Amino acid sequence: MYVKRALIKLSGEALSGPIGAGLHGETLGTIAADIAAAARAGHEIAVVVGGGNFFRGVQGLAKGLDRPSADSIGMLGTVMNALALEHAIEAVGVPARAMSAIAMPALCENYARRRALDHMANGKVVILGGGTGNPFFTTDTGAALRAAELGCDALLKATNVDGVYSADPKLDASAVRYESLTHADAIRRDLKVMDTAAFALARDSGLTIIVFSLRNPGCISAVLKGEGLATLVTP
Ligand code: UDP
Repeated sequence: MYVKRALIKLSGEALSGPIGAGLHGETLGTIAADIAAAARAGHEIAVVVGGGNFFRGVQGLAKGLDRPSADSIGMLGTVMNALALEHAIEAVGVPARAMSAIAMPALCENYARRRALDHMANGKVVILGGGTGNPFFTTDTGAALRAAELGCDALLKATNVDGVYSADPKLDASAVRYESLTHADAIRRDLKVMDTAAFALARDSGLTIIVFSLRNPGCISAVLKGEGLATLVTP
């Protein structure tokens, strides 16, 4: 499937590369170059970044924080990633705009749907931090929400494996990769590739999710052209 307007979901972990936490410069640069190449090729791109490389709400619970406070810290982590990716994409010559669901006007624009659409139409990559702006949600759900409201053709969910398997392919040699499945299948089988709220939102808005591996160079550009291995989750 060729994807003209895409929402790409990158976990925080994806930006931490081999160091496993925080930001890894080389990994950030590789991902930024791939996104920049796709933007130059004419795709309209919004990116929702996670924050797990800095902080997840559940970690805060273990430290005695309440959920809303812990999630606020988690959302701030996603804004840090958005600012890092904005810089990395601009460093390779493509304009980018970080936008936050939580107002931080000294750091970046507030997220506003019409403004994000204008940026994308003008060739800027939009990087969306802050998730949904609410505690008790994840950036996967934020990605489904933004993909629906920005009228994206698909949500590209970057993972460590090249699609959805019947079992963990690292643990079970007989695991098979699905070419496609429905949102209802994904919810019924409780597939962990995205949370149920994200699948439900995608189902209700008729949004296709493309699950692909971020491991190969140029993978984002390839998936947007409909090339390479991936699993399509469709209505
Ligand atoms: N978060 C939140 N609301 C949102 C999105 C994220 O409260 O709409 C918080 C939550 O604490 C979460 C953290 O931000 O654990 C980081 O996001 P996420 O876990 O989705 O990041 P990823 O696993 O994709 O790196």
